[in-house]
Amino acid sequence: MAESGNLNDAFMDELQDAYDAEKQLTKALPKMAKAATSPELRSAFESHLKETKGQIDRLERVFESLGEKAQGKHCDGIAGIIEEGSSVMDEDFDETTMDACLIAAGQRAEHYEMAAYGTLVAWAKTLGLPEAAGLLEETLNEEKAADEKLTALAEGGINQLAADALGGNDDEEEDDDDEEDEADETEAAPAKGKQTATATARKR
Ligand code: FE
Ligand code: ZN
Ligand code: FE
Repeated sequence: MAESGNLNDAFMDELQDAYDAEKQLTKALPKMAKAATSPELRSAFESHLKETKGQIDRLERVFESLGEKAQGKHCDGIAGIIEEGSSVMDEDFDETTMDACLIAAGQRAEHYEMAAYGTLVAWAKTLGLPEAAGLLEETLNEEKAADEKLTALAEGGINQLAADALGGNDDEEEDDDDEEDEADETEAAPAKGKQTATATARKR
């Protein structure tokens, strides 16, 4: 293949990737909001959905500022993160544990986007595209704020509520005499539908 692509082309590819990622997220976020039990978490997902729609408009302005047509190119990365989030939603977790997992899934998406927009801002500046850089930075800041909001919800109560719910779940612990063997096995078998690592740590 001829080596004719340059940083401008890579920048355009990343923009198209981000545009597609945001569109995928507008379909995933309503499902996450619906799966959330905590009203604060639900409204965090709903308000980030609104923001995400604004981010799509903003990306269209970026394309416009470059004289390019707004166009998406399938983002495999966010598709994988969304896929993981939807497997978690299929699990049979108690409500507070599900909330903790939805936050974990949401933060994976936010960090992916922070990495993408961080690169886009830096490249736009380097390429002498201040208008694009400014718009992309607005979105980068929204992604950071969304991530911080999720951290605050997790650390401000949701993780603790999930940990408290472990109390009603300890039938299995009482039935097992050989706890040492069990500890080894749970580490090797994380596929069980429970937060086994946390439950094991709690016994010590
Ligand atoms: Fe976004
Ligand atoms: Zn991607
Ligand atoms: Fe986001």
